[in-house]
Amino acid sequence: MRRMSSDSLLKRRHAALGLLCIMALATPPARAGDTPLGIAQQLSRAALADGWSHNFLEGLTTEIGPRLAGTEAEARAADWAEAQLKAAGFDAVHREPVPMTAWLRGVETAEVVTPSPQRLVLTTLGGSVATPAGGVEAEIAVFRTYAELLAAPPGSLAGKIAVVTERMVRVEDGSGYGAANPIRRTGPSEAARRGAIAYLLRSLGTDSHRLAHAGALNYAADAPKIPAAALAGPDADQLERLTSRGPVRIRLVLTPTERPDAQSWTVVGEVKGRELPDQIVLLGAHLDSWDLGTGATDDGAGLAIVAGAARLIAALPAHPRRTIRVVLFGAEEMDYSGAAYAKDHAAEALHITVAAETDFGAGKAYALQLPAGAAGSPFARDLAQALTPLGVFIPRDPPQFAGADIQGLQHAGVPVMAARQNGLDYFDTHHTADDTFDKIDPAELAQNVAVWAAAAYLAAEDDIDFRATATPAH
Ligand SMILES: [Zn+2]
Repeated sequence: MRRMSSDSLLKRRHAALGLLCIMALATPPARAGDTPLGIAQQLSRAALADGWSHNFLEGLTTEIGPRLAGTEAEARAADWAEAQLKAAGFDAVHREPVPMTAWLRGVETAEVVTPSPQRLVLTTLGGSVATPAGGVEAEIAVFRTYAELLAAPPGSLAGKIAVVTERMVRVEDGSGYGAANPIRRTGPSEAARRGAIAYLLRSLGTDSHRLAHAGALNYAADAPKIPAAALAGPDADQLERLTSRGPVRIRLVLTPTERPDAQSWTVVGEVKGRELPDQIVLLGAHLDSWDLGTGATDDGAGLAIVAGAARLIAALPAHPRRTIRVVLFGAEEMDYSGAAYAKDHAAEALHITVAAETDFGAGKAYALQLPAGAAGSPFARDLAQALTPLGVFIPRDPPQFAGADIQGLQHAGVPVMAARQNGLDYFDTHHTADDTFDKIDPAELAQNVAVWAAAAYLAAEDDIDFRATATPAH
């Protein structure tokens, strides 16, 4: 994502988008006799000139701001999103409850006690237990790679605070995050198994700023639960340098709390199919965010993309044959969304033609992966023609992982598609206080809306059976 050079540039862009929007509305978006490809191309052109998604994201990040799962702020975001979908002309707008245990951040401080007292910048991992109110103070054991921690024998960390300073790798498609994820997800329990009393990691991020990256952990059932937090990158560097000179003691205070009877909400709106309303093309993104920033790239952008794309389709003179369902999932960051939706909609899974999710910011899309076997179909040929002018190609390989919100559906056999976006900068601000609206490039956001407007329309208008295409040939 790129920073705007000034507010005035942003205002000029808004004005230009507004003008183009009026021009686009002046032309009927579809005429009788148009081919599905022709309508998909018109949708994409309209999306590139449409400022609705950018305005949606500005509204969400300004009027609601951070929306941690299960909190009053997330509930307000659900109210806000429901009103937006209704106003945008969606059918059957409603919300579905997601029962959950809410996790609430408390005090989070850390400091070097000896040899040279100084504050450290960190943030508590989502789901972490608290330290005693007065904190814990102990010597640290620094591991420069996660593998070194895993190689430490049982008991070797008794009474210590384990610190893993491995760096996440910057990669265009973001796959460095998946590779480093176990350091945050399972590191706390691995350290606890070796006797550690608390766990710190270098934030999973690619920036060099003194900001910590939040994110959830997953305690193993058979290990003691120890408090855990992510250090800002420069603070992880500082602990590496200090420990290379001699023993280091730190004090850590983390006071998060849990509310087991909390509730999150998933907000849904549809573009009812004109011929096959029971067949569903599902487009998802997640409504909750971490609490340090305003969740602009994660995942306000995704909400703006899927809602904006479906809104353009809803405004066509004739809806596509199948239903397009926009699902704005609650509690993704706390790992509830995908399983909850798959469980509540298990009986419906067979009717979900295909599912997709956008949860990777607003960086420009460069590829759209289709379910296995679909890449050579007439649907894919039409889609390729619609996407080529947008700089997007269709790879031969299907997506392995298409997002946490739809993973439960994917496991239940629902075919999935996924966009690949330029994510070179995505993990500079991901889950930090710096995930704010100014990081969104309106033109790149609009390009994503254009991709999904074309893809969702063609998937809903075509009669392709993605399950059948996935069956090996006889
Ligand atoms: Zn996300």
